[in-house]
This record gives sequence, C-alpha cells and structure tokens, in this order.
Amino acid sequence: MVAKVSDVTAEVNACSDGDISKKVEDILSRRLDGLRVASNEARYLSTFATIHQLGYSANRLTRDAYGMQASYCVDTNINYTNICETGCGFCAFCRVKSDTDSYVLKMPRLLKKVNAAVKLGGTQILLQGGHNPDLDLHWHECMLRAIKDNFEVHIHGYSPPEIDFISRNNELDIETVLARLKTAGLDSLPGGGAEILVDKVRSRISPKKCNSSTWLKVMHTAHDLGLPGTATMMFGAGESWNDRVEHLQSVRKLQDITGGFTAFIPWGYQPTNTKLGGTEPSGVDYLRVLALSRIILDNTPHIQASWVTQGRHMAELALSFGADDFGSTMLEENVVRAAGVSNHMSQEQIRESIERCGLAPFQRDTMYKRI
Ligand code: SF4
Repeated sequence: MVAKVSDVTAEVNACSDGDISKKVEDILSRRLDGLRVASNEARYLSTFATIHQLGYSANRLTRDAYGMQASYCVDTNINYTNICETGCGFCAFCRVKSDTDSYVLKMPRLLKKVNAAVKLGGTQILLQGGHNPDLDLHWHECMLRAIKDNFEVHIHGYSPPEIDFISRNNELDIETVLARLKTAGLDSLPGGGAEILVDKVRSRISPKKCNSSTWLKVMHTAHDLGLPGTATMMFGAGESWNDRVEHLQSVRKLQDITGGFTAFIPWGYQPTNTKLGGTEPSGVDYLRVLALSRIILDNTPHIQASWVTQGRHMAELALSFGADDFGSTMLEENVVRAAGVSNHMSQEQIRESIERCGLAPFQRDTMYKRI
C-alpha cells in the first residue's frame, strides 16, 4: 500500500486494506467506464492506489484511445535569451545581464538554428526565454516575423509567465500582447512555467513569477484568441500529493471551458546547479504522476513522456503508464542541460524506443496531426 498517513481522512483511517483496495478499484473501474474522477476520489487515488493499479488503468485508457501506436515531433528548442530578472529557485538556466555567459540571440544566429531544424525535418520551433526587461514587445514581434518570413514552421512559443512579464514590461494587457504576437506569427503556447499551480508552493519556489490564476488567465485568453497550447507540471520540489492533484484539477477545469490544451506534460524537478537544491523525485513518483494525469485529465487528449528530463528508459516505461506521445527531438535544449541533465535522442532512436515498447511510431506536427 502506498498510503501516506498524513494525507488520510479519519474515515479512511478506519478502513481495512481490503476496503481501501476495493474503493480504489471502484474509482478506477468507473473511470474505465467513461466516468469522471471526482476531486476527493483523485486525492484518494493519489494516496492509496498502487503504482500497478494506476499504471494498468492509465495504459488501458491510452490503448483504448490510440491503439498500439505512439507519436513524436521533430523540433528544436530555441532560448532567445537567458537573461531573467525573475530568478526562480529551481532554475539553473537564468543569468543576470552582468554575467559573462548571459546572452540575447542575434537574429542571424537564431535564424541559423531554425534553418538547421527545418533541414532535419523539423516542423516546430519551441521558442522560450528569460524575463529580460531590455526586450520590448516590438523586439518579440520582429523575431517572430523574421522566422515566419523565412520558414514555413509552427512557432510554439512564450509560456504564460513570459506573456505576463511582457505585458507588465510594456504596460499592455495580456490580450493585447497575445493578439500582437499572434499577428506577428505565434501559433501556440507551451505550458511552461506552471510548475505547481498552487500559490503556497509557487511563493516558495518562484516568488517573483506569476501566480496560478495569472498562469491560467493567460492560457484562457490565448485559447479564446485561437492560440492552443500545452499544459505542464514540474513536480518534486517539495509539494504534497494534494498540491499535485489540485494542479491537475485546475488544468481540467480550464480545459472544460476552452478545450484549448492539446497535451499535458509532467516532469520531475532537476535540482543540480539550482538555489533551491534538494533531490530529484523518484522514477516511481514520475510514473504515478503520469498515470494520474491520464486518469484525471479525461478532457485532455494527449499525455507526453519527457525523455529530456527522465531519460530514455523512463520515457519508454511512460508509454505503459498513460503517455501516448514520446515528446520531441529537441535538436537543441539548454534549460534542462543547465540543471546537469544531458539526454540526447535522435529521431531514429525515438522511433526505436517506441518500437521496442511494441508500439508503432509516427511523426506528428504540433497539433498532433500525423505527418
Ligand atoms: S524558470 Fe524561467 S522565469 Fe524562472 S528564472 Fe528560469 S528563466 Fe526565469
């Protein structure tokens, strides 16, 4: 039994192991029959379900929806600047302007990176950067236009905290910022910067970053403007299972309203080179979070594995714990590498990984259409 006594209600404490197992099975059976897992049931599963119960149910839901196949995307991750005034405790990537290794990418260099990705069959540019007060909205519009003028590529860029920062830095509202970036070429938003959407957690690990309601408001506004996006969770930086469940419920609630999330991507905190320190969460934690995501997020079509943070073999396991997508090639990746984790996979290795899990691999675009 995986129970943590601190999470248990008095009623539950009075139950025997048999009662608990039966209740877990009942909740999961109803989910497999197409019913929604209620808030209290989600907390119950996070506390009492075994990894096998969660994995079996998440895999059943995934196979029922997608059969014996799994997708992946070919892309690169371009970080236009590492200068950031927000200084989150878990971040090993950010620099202050006076640091010798701080940078803002010059446009020719940035376009060279896009070109390299497109030449290798890349269809998506994941574009993210630090909160740099020297870069105004016009600079961002010019960057997007320069990419779109030269390449036919989907720009998946600007996580909600970046949008919030640009909005405050330019004294413009969020809707205006998003609309102008969309006009300049932005196609969708990555769900970065969500970490855990519970303010008591955020104020401890990233006190200068936008709060959870602003993160959700940016995504809501983006979806209303026709900019879809992903949702993410970075877990393992000291939050409770109840916090993780609350995060999943916030995503599910917004998705009920907008339907704008294409996928959910959880990954574990990587502590190396960070102010926050501590240890990374276990592989068991990762698989439990992933399976719970598939079980609780009944309205979000895709669940993505994260080989970049969890490594190739854990990502292969993820395909049996609710993930239907292996993620993307990330021809360039800087943020996780700064935290001491350096995993690399080619398109061929991704296909090989999917195949050795008994699934048929296929390349997709950002909107999960088969290429
Ligand atoms: S996580 Fe993002 S916002 Fe936070 S310090 Fe790093 S670059 Fe800045």
